[in-house]
Amino acid sequence: MEVIFLGTGTSQGVPMIACDCAVCTSTDPRNRRTRASIHVVLGDLHIQVDAAPEFRLQCLRERIGWIDRFILTHGHADHVAGMDDLRRFCDLLGGVALPVDSTEEGLARIRAMYPYAIGERPAAKGYVAFRLQTLPSRLELPQGIIESVRLPHGAVETLGLVFTDRASGKKFAYYTDCKSVPAAAVALARGADVMVLDGLRPEPHPTHMTIDEAVAVAREIAAPQTYLTHLTHLTEHAEWCSRLPAGISFAHDGLRLNLSSRPPAGEGGRAAST
Ligand SMILES: [Zn+2]
Ligand SMILES: [Zn+2]
Ligand SMILES: [Zn+2]
Repeated sequence: MEVIFLGTGTSQGVPMIACDCAVCTSTDPRNRRTRASIHVVLGDLHIQVDAAPEFRLQCLRERIGWIDRFILTHGHADHVAGMDDLRRFCDLLGGVALPVDSTEEGLARIRAMYPYAIGERPAAKGYVAFRLQTLPSRLELPQGIIESVRLPHGAVETLGLVFTDRASGKKFAYYTDCKSVPAAAVALARGADVMVLDGLRPEPHPTHMTIDEAVAVAREIAAPQTYLTHLTHLTEHAEWCSRLPAGISFAHDGLRLNLSSRPPAGEGGRAAST
């Protein structure tokens, strides 16, 4: 299993428009955070999770060449706004609809934003089409298992996703955009080799976890490696990574995780990353 972080920023992105702060003007590329999404390669299956406003540019940057299915975690604009650019992948699939899984709320938002794209085939060659379905709590695929759990996120619920690779037995959990992680979601993520959590910023927010809240959840789940995502311009990458407890760090755009093999002895059980 491979995981590619296409974006790790909050809804405003970093740099933020009209801001000259140290993080927004930083020359460290890890402080440049496009809106949050990941690409998961499970065996030979390419799963795209969310499509940020920068989705096309993220695909070009990370050389994403194929998508078999799409999962929308929830219907907020920073996760859904790039979906029209999935048209290229419908074309590559042979001019058929892309399977799209989400919550009822996520599917309703897709229908409202992309009414021309709902159906089994694109309206014309090069157009986008979505075959919508509610993601079941457990999806068994030849390549692995995708499990999901609902996470509170203000007025909506976000799908927390757990991927298990059948070949290696490796487990990866992705919990973005959540105010808390309920007990059922903690239980589902237990045993994950790598955990990703919403760690918006140091200050409290009505619909996202603070960094301290995310660290507390990370300790409860106790994955060997946890990454925080959906980050604002309030946190500088290197400074915060040095300050976070061992085994917890910030994700950054372009971060790639290879979970296909056990880490070599002597690396403290940390998942390999670039
Ligand atoms: Zn978001
Ligand atoms: Zn700034
Ligand atoms: Zn959101």
